[in-house]
Amino acid sequence: MDELLMSPVDLHCHSTASDGLLTPTELVNLAAAQGVRLLALTDHDDVDGLAEARVAAKEAGIWLIDGVEISVTWNKRGIHIVGLRVDPTCPELVRGLESIRAGRMGRARKMAESLEEVGISGSLEGAHRYAENERMIGRAHFARFLVETGHAKNVKAVFKKFLVGGKPGYVPHQWADMAEAIGWIKASGGIAVLAHPGRYDIGSTNMLALITEFKAAGGSAIEVVSGSHTGEQHQEFADYAREFGLLASVGSDYHGPGENYLELGRLAILPPGCQPVWREWAEAKSAELLT
Ligand code: AMP
Ligand code: MN
Ligand code: MN
Ligand code: MN
Repeated sequence: MDELLMSPVDLHCHSTASDGLLTPTELVNLAAAQGVRLLALTDHDDVDGLAEARVAAKEAGIWLIDGVEISVTWNKRGIHIVGLRVDPTCPELVRGLESIRAGRMGRARKMAESLEEVGISGSLEGAHRYAENERMIGRAHFARFLVETGHAKNVKAVFKKFLVGGKPGYVPHQWADMAEAIGWIKASGGIAVLAHPGRYDIGSTNMLALITEFKAAGGSAIEVVSGSHTGEQHQEFADYAREFGLLASVGSDYHGPGENYLELGRLAILPPGCQPVWREWAEAKSAELLT
């Protein structure tokens, strides 16, 4: 892609503090090398990587936003809410994240039992070897184990045969309530962003209901440009953002080399007419970002 059409902003990515493959330092250094100037680290349900990322960002000369990606259950479906500019020390946020992490270990045990039923043993131990932050054990760690043991050719292929509704290894789980998650983000001074809406596959009626409820609960922005959106979806969610008066965010959802639709620093810029979520941030002004 033309360098001028690539975004110097990436407000969604993962480190080893959740299910990414790179440490916060490695991730920040890679982002800087790829031309990202404003980066948010948004690990799932945990803010443990932020302190290290901050040191690395200072060294690398890029601007870091404190973020988190919270797992939510909405109408029996898993959806994700990104918090940007959160205060990782805010007791309400810290307690909330703790409460949703607490169920992960039991869920992992049940996932392993379900895989055992189709003859796949050792997955709990196998997944744990990939989970540097063991309290954050999740499906991506199981997916890596399933690739390692030859049950799928890569992580994306795993999610076609395993770990999703109706397939071996899937365990329904109750995450945070959407309003609750947005409440924690806001209590810590942050901004709530609806993550990768194009991934939910819920049809337009449900999408309207989701965005309406998200906004009513205090959500401010949606990811218009996402590593998992098509070009058409960039326009579709730019239209939703305009219609609902929401700010627009840009995030790769990068998890590490070889596990993504695109590499870090290779995101498209926002379609015309979007209000960037970073438009009034001091960090964006310092990074000399225009839009
Ligand atoms: P969990 O929080 O344990 O439910 O795991 C969710 C994570 O699994 C996501 O953040 C991704 O890292 C990974 N994941 C889910 N679906 C897919 C998919 N279709 N392709 C690749 N990774 C996926
Ligand atoms: Mn993930
Ligand atoms: Mn997500
Ligand atoms: Mn993510």
